[in-house]
Order: sequence, then structure tokens, then C-alpha cells
Amino acid sequence: MTKQKKVLIIDCRQEVSSFNPLPSQYENFHIERGDEMMAQEGLNVEFGGALPVFRAAGMEPVLTIAARASSAGVLSAEGWKRLSTEVMDAAAAGVKRGIDGVYFIMHGAMGAENELDPEGWLLAETRKLIGPSVPMVVSLDLHGILTDRMLKQVNGLTIYHTYPHVDFADTGERAAKLLVRLMTENIKPVIARVVIPALVRGHELITKTGFYGDLIREAQRLERDGTALAAGVMIGNPFTDVPELCSQVLVMTDGAEATAKAEAIRIAEEFWPQRRRMQSTFLTLERAVAQAATINGPVLFTDAADATSSGATGDSNLILKGLVRGGYRKRALAQIVDAPAAAAAHKAGVGATIKVTLGGTIDPKRFPPMPVTARVKLLSDGESRFETMQIGISAGPTAVLEIDNLTVVVFTRTIGLFDRAMYYANGLNPKDFDLIVMKSPHAEHHMYDAWVEKNFNIDIPGATSNNLPTLGHTICARPMFPLDEDATFKPIAVAYSR
Ligand SMILES: [Zn+2]
Repeated sequence: MTKQKKVLIIDCRQEVSSFNPLPSQYENFHIERGDEMMAQEGLNVEFGGALPVFRAAGMEPVLTIAARASSAGVLSAEGWKRLSTEVMDAAAAGVKRGIDGVYFIMHGAMGAENELDPEGWLLAETRKLIGPSVPMVVSLDLHGILTDRMLKQVNGLTIYHTYPHVDFADTGERAAKLLVRLMTENIKPVIARVVIPALVRGHELITKTGFYGDLIREAQRLERDGTALAAGVMIGNPFTDVPELCSQVLVMTDGAEATAKAEAIRIAEEFWPQRRRMQSTFLTLERAVAQAATINGPVLFTDAADATSSGATGDSNLILKGLVRGGYRKRALAQIVDAPAAAAAHKAGVGATIKVTLGGTIDPKRFPPMPVTARVKLLSDGESRFETMQIGISAGPTAVLEIDNLTVVVFTRTIGLFDRAMYYANGLNPKDFDLIVMKSPHAEHHMYDAWVEKNFNIDIPGATSNNLPTLGHTICARPMFPLDEDATFKPIAVAYSR
């Protein structure tokens, strides 16, 4: 009888915005150790998709650590030291059990004060532990920044194919299937990479309907018809200002380097001429408020500049101020991170009237605090689950405040706000309001776009503004479109194999 093969599974992820003034800390990470990772079994997450594949292949998963943090500011040097030590200690303990393959689950857009390529460091250290010949597969968010150092460590990769993201488990399943093949077949993986000096945003990125989706479907076609073992189009997180921030096309084949390079170049050459189309269109706050007041049906105000799921602070009060300043009188619903205001509401109790300031507790320079008199409508523990992944969210003590016609959910902690989970969890249905504020560039279609009359993309400052040239990148390679209008593209495919 042959010995049962063992697969080491490690999960470490965060997405940072370099333009968020508050550094992340070790405490931002929710950590599951060893068997605690089984809490993700059956969920729409990478681990949930990968586990059944390893089991079906008769392989034993060796669980190490899953460390995941909500998007936030750059990780502090101290936080990175503690986190990276813990991750590598867990990996080393797993490797000691004798392993035959590694599946590393990552986002790809981490950044630390003293390490601008944390994922590259983690993969390089893991490679040192496992030696040169054990196959290692990484899965990544399409917003990740896949670096040269990462590519040199891995034998294979899979990338999300959807935005808004819904294929978490599917990406894990693809990664696990790829790893099983690398462990059991005589495959000679070669990954071709073409870097495109462009950052993109906007509606064309919605993969179901936008141009970006057309390119991804071509990558999927290569995977399905057997041309490629894996393929993907990554666009980076434009707010993670690190040296290798870029868009890039990846095509992985079994030994066919020329094919991998040619296909990657072909897709990249289709991407580049469309870079202008893949940018956001904006409306000033003043104009959006004025138009919203005259529109009958409900409207959505997209505050992409304060997108907590991309690493923003969540304490922007600019839209609330704009609604008051513009004399908007219909029912509006919004969310904001403000720990002192949430605490004041909890202290005062339901039904009380409190005088507090809203917003600007984390980024007061961009969002000077807004004084309000509010009635405490409802209090909660801020616990919920994301609509898509069904994994937990902990916003800390939370309060629903009513300020005249404005209903505002106030959180203690910054959390992802790309769905309606925290509205529902606090007794609110967005459909009961005339205007809803969403702190995310996009949501799944059915969440808002399917039933609002108009979705206004508001051009206001924030750590994740879609108005990319206004952010002030200092680290990423230049020239880079649209930061530099004169950026040019020379399609060069670099092949990696090990
Ligand atoms: Zn993403």
C-alpha cells in the first residue's frame, strides 16, 4: 500500500490601502489554528472548495494556520513581525509531519511598513522549509499583486475569475485540483507573466457585464479547453502602493512555454487599448444630491473612496454632510465607523437623544467630525455574516442613530461593507429608504443595482478614491496609467518554471 499523501494548507491574507493613515496591527487578524480551520468547511471560501478535492484524492490535509484581516491600512512593522513569525512557526510544525504538497491561500495585496512584498516573503520562507521539489500552489484574489519573488517559489496558481467576487470556493477547488495533478502526474509547469503598466477601476470591471469579464472568460476558456492548466487576469489593488503594483496576465501550461507566452501576450494586448474605458466615471456630490432629490425611485450613492473592503477607514462623513448641506429631505440610510459615537449610544440606551460627532475618528484630516443630535433607535453587538461567503463579521458595539431624515448605522470597528449584511443585522431593509449609501465600489447586482433607479458614483476624497491620479502614489513603478498619461506598453512575457 502506498503511503497517504499529505497536503500542507496555510492561509494568510489581507488587502491594504497605503492611503489609509491608520496602520493595521496584529490584532486586526482573526486567527484559526490547526483544527480550528475546519470552521471554514463547506463555506464559500477557498479552503471550503479545496478540502473535498484533497479528500476525494485520498490525501490528508495538514492544517496549520488561517490568518485573515479585514482590509485596512498598511500593517505595522511590529504587527508583521509577530504575524509572520506565527505563520512560519505553524508552517514549520506542519512540515515536520512530512508533507508532499503545499496549498497557500492568499489575497495578494498585503503590505507592511518594513516589508512591501509580504506574500513573497512568506512563499520564499515556506519554500526554504519544504525544499526545492515539493509542489506548492497559491491562490489569489484578482486584486492581488503577484510579484516576481512569489512566482519564483510556486509551481502553480489559481486566481479569482469574478468581480464582485463570488468564486472563492471555486478558486480553492481549482487550486486543489491543480496541486493534486502536480503531486500525482508528471507535469512540467511553466507560468508566463505579462505585466501591463495600468491601474483600472469602474463598471467595466464587473465581470458579468464589463469588458474585463470578456478577458477573464478568455482565460477561463484556456483553462477549460486544456490549452492552459491555469490562467487569469489580475488588476492589483490600485490602493496598495508597492513596487510591483500593476495589472498582469498569467498563463500556466504543462511544458508549453511558447504557448503560455503567446496566450498571455494576446490577452494583455487586448487589455491595454481598453485601459481608458476601464476607469471610473464620477459625479460631484452636489450634483448627485440635487438630482437624487428629484428622482422618484430609490437611489444608491456609491462611496468608493471609503471602501472598507479595499482598505479605507470607513469613517467618511462626506456624503452625510453633502445631504445636509444640499437640503435632502427624503429618507436616507448610511453606515459609518465611529467608536466613540457607538459607545455614547450604548451608554445612553435605546430611545435616548445624544449629541455626538460622526466620522473622522480615524482620518480627521480628510473627514472633519460632524456634530449631530441623534436619537438612539437600536443597539446591537455588531455580529453578522457576509451575504456571499457566510463568514462572520464583528463590527463591535453598534448603534442605529436617527438624525432627522438620516438613519445611520454606527460601528465600533472597520469592517467590509460591500453587501447588505450589516443593514439587515441591525433591523434595516435598504428597500425602505429613498437613498442608500454603500461604502464599496460595487455590490452584486441583486443587492442594489437590480432595483435602484440610479447608482451615483460620487467623486469625493478617501483612501480608496477611484479617482486614482488624486491619491498620490510614490512607490509603484512609473510610468503607470492613469497616474501617467504617457505610459506605454511593450508586451514582454517572462516564463517561470521550477
Ligand atoms: Zn478583491
